[in-house]
Amino acid sequence: MKDDNCIFCKLANGVIPTTTLYEDDSYRVIFDANPATEGHVLILPKEHYANLTELPDEIASGVMPLAGKIGKAMLSGLGAKGFNVVQNNGEAAGQTVHHFHTHIIPRYGTEKEMVLWKPNEVSAEKLSETCEKLRKAL
Ligand code: 5GP
Ligand code: ZN
Repeated sequence: MKDDNCIFCKLANGVIPTTTLYEDDSYRVIFDANPATEGHVLILPKEHYANLTELPDEIASGVMPLAGKIGKAMLSGLGAKGFNVVQNNGEAAGQTVHHFHTHIIPRYGTEKEMVLWKPNEVSAEKLSETCEKLRKAL
């Protein structure tokens, strides 16, 4: 399914031309318009899925191998020292384009900003309460 109002559907399917790092029947890998670092790319499925909760297993299972291959190319081809694989789901998680995508961000060891969160402490009681809620929902 494609969504006529979705910019990533148009980019993934070549309706809007864009520099393409990789393409096959299921995915197109494009460069982020506002890169965190040089070489920041997005893996887009060609079909429209709003986020990971909608992604069929056969599409989901192709994403990590592709991310690994691209990450390896960032190390050898761009001289990156590492890379982040980032995937946001929902506005609360920072998702701004509601067509599933995975960011691959090369890291050169010179960036000040990281993909960060503030580490908190958690009690054993709270942890088991959280685990119980999650297990029931699985
Ligand atoms: P999100 O915050 O949803 O995980 O990431 C969306 C990403 O898409 C952002 O990093 C943003 O720069 C990128 N982006 C938004 N619109 C376009 C576009 O039209 N073309 C490209 N190449 N990237 C886009
Ligand atoms: Zn879409």
